[in-house]
Amino acid sequence: MNDKDYYSILGVSRDASADEIKKAYRELALKYHPDKNPGNSEAGEKFKEINEAYSVLSNPEKRQRYDQFGSAGMNNGGFEGGFDTEDFFNVFGEGFDSFFGGNNRSSRQHGQRKGEDLQIRIKLTLREIANGVTKKIKLSHYVKCDGCDGCGAESSDGVQKCSKCNGLGYVTKIVKTFFGQMSSRTVCGACDGTGKNITKKCDKCKGEGRLYVNDIIDIKIPDGISEEGTFLKKGCGNASRRGGIPGNLHVVVSEIDDPVFKRNGYDVYSQVNISFFDAVLGCEKEIDTLYGKVKIKIPQGTQSGKLLSLKGKGLKHIEGYDYGNQYVYVQVYTPDLKNLTSSEKDFLLKMKDSDGFRPDISKNENNFWDRVKKFLFK
Ligand SMILES: [Zn+2]
Ligand SMILES: [Zn+2]
Repeated sequence: MNDKDYYSILGVSRDASADEIKKAYRELALKYHPDKNPGNSEAGEKFKEINEAYSVLSNPEKRQRYDQFGSAGMNNGGFEGGFDTEDFFNVFGEGFDSFFGGNNRSSRQHGQRKGEDLQIRIKLTLREIANGVTKKIKLSHYVKCDGCDGCGAESSDGVQKCSKCNGLGYVTKIVKTFFGQMSSRTVCGACDGTGKNITKKCDKCKGEGRLYVNDIIDIKIPDGISEEGTFLKKGCGNASRRGGIPGNLHVVVSEIDDPVFKRNGYDVYSQVNISFFDAVLGCEKEIDTLYGKVKIKIPQGTQSGKLLSLKGKGLKHIEGYDYGNQYVYVQVYTPDLKNLTSSEKDFLLKMKDSDGFRPDISKNENNFWDRVKKFLFK
């Protein structure tokens, strides 16, 4: 049997992160999905292949086994082949149905009801992102009704097994698909997937099993999350109607512009202003970092535009333990002539043509082009 290279199937490197794998899979699955390529058997094969690759690489245990033994090892070790609809729809989430215009709800949930996912946006300063922060946020969402514990009935006497689906919550149909005949489960319409019919409704939620409330919840922000980075707070979306599992909350982070720091990936940039005399003589300056103030030494003879680096004072890598750096741009302040006293002006005029003050380009190791190169090709 041919050994398949799941990494090249998804077009990712062998050390790709879980996020990179997911992203690559999403793009390919959207491209090759049978609904988008009707009657194209090549696309169908490709679609099966990328689903197989994803089902292995997205699972840390399977991925490790695959890295060790290759795809042949997967077949001996219990990989069933085909594709796992559950995985597939977990990646695409709610938006997927509308994307293809189909209704895949039943196959996604196997009759299991799930509340809606919600999304919120949180604005954070760079310092909050760097140091990690827990934010209290207001969230209006459905929560499980405490009057009936989510079942929607006044008491256990008020619930009957649904006769149409025999309490399963779904009905099974055989449907013809691109891959041949498949059995498809659809949510039972009679009980709306709950498997139960309510004869006496809970007073508090009117049989819904959930209540709309204004909540305050704590959200712990992962250190180092990127601008527009998203993470999931499981189970904090809407509670499902009458039991089932709650939806998730997608938290999108947006960064508030910082007056001191500019971010570039995990590195941050700031500026320090020094006088001409400090530049010539050297000095010590207290500067801001994301983690508090530190003293830095500015060596004698520092040119304006020099970048000083502070190792490890950038942001923490979101996966791992490393930190980025802080780069401090040194700006030598040039005073305005009209603000100088006559004795200061006299001093400048006296020194103006003195040899020691003439620019020496050969000694200027940190000229403009070096800095541009450093920024671009670092
Ligand atoms: Zn209730
Ligand atoms: Zn039913």
